[in-house]
Amino acid sequence: MLRRFRLEEPESVKEACELLARHGESARIYAGGTELLLAMKEGLIQYERLINVKKITGLDQVKLENGTIRIGALTPHRKLENDPVLKQKLPAFVRMEHHVANVRVREVGTLGGNLCFAEPHADPGTLLMVLGAKLVAERASSRREIPAERFFVDAYETCLEADELLTDIHVPALPERAGAAYLKFGYLERPSVGVGLFIAWDQDAAIAEARIAVGCAGPKPKRVEEAEGLLKGKSARDAASALAQAGEIAGRAADAIGDLHGSAEYKEHIVGVLLKRAFQQISEQRSSKSSR
Ligand SMILES: Cc1cc2nc3c(=O)[nH]c(=O)nc-3n(C[C@H](O)[C@H](O)[C@H](O)COP(=O)(O)OP(=O)(O)OC[C@H]3O[C@@H](n4cnc5c(N)ncnc54)[C@H](O)[C@@H]3O)c2cc1C
Repeated sequence: MLRRFRLEEPESVKEACELLARHGESARIYAGGTELLLAMKEGLIQYERLINVKKITGLDQVKLENGTIRIGALTPHRKLENDPVLKQKLPAFVRMEHHVANVRVREVGTLGGNLCFAEPHADPGTLLMVLGAKLVAERASSRREIPAERFFVDAYETCLEADELLTDIHVPALPERAGAAYLKFGYLERPSVGVGLFIAWDQDAAIAEARIAVGCAGPKPKRVEEAEGLLKGKSARDAASALAQAGEIAGRAADAIGDLHGSAEYKEHIVGVLLKRAFQQISEQRSSKSSR
């Protein structure tokens, strides 16, 4: 049962941050409420005050500015999966969004809420890491940009301070000779394993940059730089033969936990399988682009 709480309805970021600063741990931001209200109804968490941020204008837009895609933290998943800028510039993000939860959750649940709740079985954080995204956190009188890989601290824990509001997610548009993919696997309501991959080629078709991230299997999503190093500088063919080893390293780095979703060993194995498929997907997209 939902206990009584007071609802605040600020109309600006500053006002919301001042409320957070004034009420500290007894208050929480309320965006779509799909995680927050569920956890409150089940008595897992309680707050005296919820700060409904949906009256703040301008935080539910997607804009392309100087090669950076700026996504407002209050944008619902459903809007993201249909956004024309994202469809054109970041199709991997649109595909990921299309497979988040179900349509009812996507209609109201926001990208910011997903990231701030830091539920381990979530998709966007893993993909945002390989895309080189930065998360913008604001206080009443200051603002900072946090690289996606530094945002998650542990399960259900981020580096946001109690008086900070996540306002934007900045994602660089994909460079011309680059591709990205996010693949997940699961048979329960939420994903069991997720893998993100970004590859950029130089003009001689060698891999100039590779970014790999794993999520869902362990407490938080993370980059796997050791596995990335195995792909860098390689041709497509050499990289393909290094993928098995890269997958093993990424599987171990996932800090997989055995639970209802499967054993730790099983999840580690799936990381390797998804990494190979993600590489294949990016390679196929590259071939079809160059044959056009
Ligand atoms: C049935 C179900 C299935 C799901 N399946 C998936 C899935 O397959 N993949 C996946 O990735 N996710 C999945 N989710 C998670 C879903 O994406 C989130 O519930 C949703 O995005 C949360 O957004 P919200 O706006 O409702 O957050 P809220 O519930 O409003 O907030 C969640 C938390 O984040 C904080 N918060 C929210 N916005 C901000 C902000 N701007 N700044 C600071 N703090 C903030 C709140 O205080 C709260 O602690 C699933 C959820 C459900 C209920």
